[in-house]
Amino acid sequence: MTPIAVIGAGITGVTTAYALAIRGYPVTVYDRNRYAAMETSFANGGQLSACNAEVWNKLSTVIQGLRWMARRDAPLLMNPAPSWHKLSWMAEFVREIAHYRENTVETVRLAIRAREALFGMARAEGIDFDLKTRGILHFYRDETAFRKAEAVNTLLREGGLERHAVTPEEIRTIEPTLAGDYYGGFYTPSDATGDIHKFTRGLAAACARRGVRFVHDATVEAIEPGGEGAHRIHWREAGRGDTRMEDAAAVVICAGTGSRHFAAMLGDRVNVYPVKGYSITVNLYTPEARAAAPEVSILDEATKIVTSRLGEDRFRVAGTAEFNGFNRDIRHDRIQPLVDWTRAQFPGVDTDRVVAWSGLRPMLPNMLPKVGRGRRAGVFYNTGHGHLGWTLSGATAELVAEAVAAASEPGRAAGLPLAA
Ligand SMILES: Cc1cc2nc3c(=O)[nH]c(=O)nc-3n(C[C@H](O)[C@H](O)[C@H](O)COP(=O)(O)OP(=O)(O)OC[C@H]3O[C@@H](n4cnc5c(N)ncnc54)[C@H](O)[C@@H]3O)c2cc1C
Repeated sequence: MTPIAVIGAGITGVTTAYALAIRGYPVTVYDRNRYAAMETSFANGGQLSACNAEVWNKLSTVIQGLRWMARRDAPLLMNPAPSWHKLSWMAEFVREIAHYRENTVETVRLAIRAREALFGMARAEGIDFDLKTRGILHFYRDETAFRKAEAVNTLLREGGLERHAVTPEEIRTIEPTLAGDYYGGFYTPSDATGDIHKFTRGLAAACARRGVRFVHDATVEAIEPGGEGAHRIHWREAGRGDTRMEDAAAVVICAGTGSRHFAAMLGDRVNVYPVKGYSITVNLYTPEARAAAPEVSILDEATKIVTSRLGEDRFRVAGTAEFNGFNRDIRHDRIQPLVDWTRAQFPGVDTDRVVAWSGLRPMLPNMLPKVGRGRRAGVFYNTGHGHLGWTLSGATAELVAEAVAAASEPGRAAGLPLAA
C-alpha cells in the first residue's frame, strides 16, 4: 500500500503519525533534522495547560504590545521593520478580536480533550517524559490584574475547566517555594507538565515499532499533486546534491513554521507566523537548589513567564513573544529577564548552570490550529498550534486522523469542529 506522507516530525507530526498508524495506515514521516523534535518541540515551557487557552486576540494585547515596543526586555517584542507576511498576519489578528470569546472556549475544550489523549498515548506505549500532575498556578501581583483574570476564568470554566481562585496564603500552601508578594491567584489542579522532547522521541520510537517509516535529514522541497489525492514528495538528503522522489497516497502537513510555504504550494492559505520565544533550563545540581525549586507549574501573567519542573534536577522557565521573522538567534538581553525572574521568585535556586534556547511558535492569526482537509483531495493539515502545541496535539492528531479516515471511507461521520 502507498503510505500517507507526514511532513514534519515535531509533536504534531509524530502524534499524527501515531494516530494514523493505530488506524492501520502505512505512514512515512519526513523531517529535515536528524532526529524528531529538534525545532519548536525541543525545549518549550512544558505546560499541558488548558488554563492557558485564552487566545491573545484582545484590544488590550495590541495596546500593551505598542507600549512594550520601546522596552528591550518586554515580554512581547515587535521588530518594526514591515513585511507583507507580518502585516497580513497582524491585520487578521485584529479582525479576530471579534471572535475572542468563542475561540477561547473552543481552545479550552480542545485542550481538556487533548490532555487525556496524550496521557493515553504515554500509558499505552510506556513513555517516560517527566510527567508531573501537580496542577498549574497563575499568580497576580495587584487587584486590577486579578479582577481581569476573573473574567478570563469565567470563559475557561464555560469551556469545562475546573479552576478556582486562591488567596496569597493558599498560594504558599500550594507551592511553598514561591518567595514573592502576591495579591491572589488561580489554580488548575487538572493541568500538568512534561518534557515535550522526551515525549515526542518516545512516541516516535513507538511509531517505528508500529511500522512507521521515518526519513530524517530530508528537506522536503516540493509536493507535487497527482491524481485522486495521490502526491509525489520531492526531498533532498542533507549533504547530498540530488533530489529524490517518493509517492504518497495523501499528505499531512505538520511542518510548524514551514507549513505556510507548503500550503501555498498546495493551493491553500495557512498564514502561520513564526512567533519567537525563549526558554532556560536550570540544572538543579545541589540538594539545596532542588529543594528551592517549585514542583507545581507556575504562570506569571504580568511577565508571561511559565515554568515546569522536569524530573528532580531540571527546572524550565520560558516566555517572551517576538515578531521578528525566522530569526532564531539566542539574544542575551532576552535570556537575562528569565534568569532574573527565576532569582526573584526562587532565591535559593542557583542559576550558574543554565541552558538557553529559542524556538519559533507556529502561530495562526486566530490562534486556533488548522486541522483537517485542504482544498485539494488528499491534502490535510495539522499545524499552527502557536503557544499551545504541546497542550493541543493529542486531540488534533485524533481529529486529523479521523479526517483522513472519513476521506478514505466516504460516508463515515467524523464530527470535526476544526476541519477546513
Ligand atoms: C518558548 C516557547 C514556550 C512554549 N511553551 C509551551 C507550553 O508550555 N505548552 C504548550 O502547549 N506549548 C508551548 N509552546 C508551543 C509548542 O512548543 C509548539 O506549538 C509546538 O512545539 C509546535 O510543534 P510543531 O510540530 O507544530 O512544530 P515543530 O516542532 O517545529 O515541528 C515541525 C517540523 O517540521 C519540520 N520541517 C519544516 N519544514 C520542513 C521541510 N521543508 N522539510 C522537512 N521537514 C521540515 C521541522 O524540521 C520540524 O521538525 C512553546 C513554544 C515556545 C517557542
